[in-house]
Amino acid sequence: MQQVLQATIPNDPSPLMDITQRPETVFVRGQGSWLFDSNGKKYLDFVQGWAVNCLGHSPEPLVSAITAQAGQLINCSPAYFNQPMLDLAAALTADAGLEQVFFANSGAEANEGAIKLARKWGQLHRDGAYEIITTEHAFHGRTLATMAASGKEGWDKLYPPNLPGFPKVPFGDLDAMAAAVTENTVAIMVEPIQGEAGVVNTVDDYMLGLRALTEKHGILLILDEIQTGMGRTGKMFACQHTGITPDIMTLGKGIGGGVPLAALLAKETVCCFAHGDQGGTFNGNPLMMAAGLAVWRELSKPGFLDAAIAAGAYLSQGLQTLSAKHGLGAVRGRGLLLALDLRAPTGGTIAAAALEEGLLLNAPRPDSLRFMPALNVSHGEIDHMLEILDTAIAK
Ligand SMILES: *Cc1c(COP(=O)(O)O)cnc(C)c1O
Repeated sequence: MQQVLQATIPNDPSPLMDITQRPETVFVRGQGSWLFDSNGKKYLDFVQGWAVNCLGHSPEPLVSAITAQAGQLINCSPAYFNQPMLDLAAALTADAGLEQVFFANSGAEANEGAIKLARKWGQLHRDGAYEIITTEHAFHGRTLATMAASGKEGWDKLYPPNLPGFPKVPFGDLDAMAAAVTENTVAIMVEPIQGEAGVVNTVDDYMLGLRALTEKHGILLILDEIQTGMGRTGKMFACQHTGITPDIMTLGKGIGGGVPLAALLAKETVCCFAHGDQGGTFNGNPLMMAAGLAVWRELSKPGFLDAAIAAGAYLSQGLQTLSAKHGLGAVRGRGLLLALDLRAPTGGTIAAAALEEGLLLNAPRPDSLRFMPALNVSHGEIDHMLEILDTAIAK
């Protein structure tokens, strides 16, 4: 049956819900910074599953960890402990300076948990305050609550009625944030760098200011580090650039190196879930925990993040040179989460031309390109990417 189907309708995409524009390419294999399609064409991958494959495609440590764990124990219900769950919890909490963690399957689910935890804490410690101030153009996920927390234009019209309780202020504006805090506020939730909005940096003063503001009012600081965490900006977590510790932090994307894994971390004083308040069938399953542990071990090796910082500086320098040559704008971002301002709505066209030339790039906004290669990308691969990009821009 399978064979007949494949012979008569080769690669028919119609049974798939049409939720995004996809090129016709079908990818069959990945290795490091390279992807291969069903025609054998190879592509240099500077998307890496949206900043997910932090060690590149099918890295040996991840493949062996998953393979070994699959032969040992794949799943035993979240109602029981398993060894990699305990090990990963110990590793992440120690690194983050936060006492407890809840493992989830996606970033949105981790943020959803953060919202629940803050609201529960508000019931217990702040007279039932439940509002969480978020920022314009923020991206926190695609569940109903995380969409309400997000500040993406048009999203408030998509699936009404919307979940209330997420007043919004401009990103990076500390005064606006301070003015928005009321007795109904339980938390402030931001991304250290707005990735989906086009890699919009905060200055360190903003982060320090948010920490001081939340402390002054006795409310929670929630950092969504789903894109910026796990070494993406050159530190294990972006908040470490300023030395602040949030009350709640969420991780996703890079944490599993490509498998569905996310985490909600919090200070012990904030962890107020009672039994039954939070859970999930696949949460903390040994297979994903083993993957997360393998990724964490690689990122924690001496010199790994230093090399990522060096690669980020090299990429940033190359992009600036290219920008000067073609009369484009600034390079934004930190570490290996970078964007190039194109000063014109040419991002989609350039990304399409790059794909033709064998390079995967993402245009988060029409006027910018985003670069999120593997954290172990080589200087040679960066040079190669810059050459293809040069050609694509010239086209
Ligand atoms: C990707 C992302 C999310 C959502 O993660 P999913 O795994 O897609 O649910 C949330 N916040 C930020 C900052 C992200 O980059």
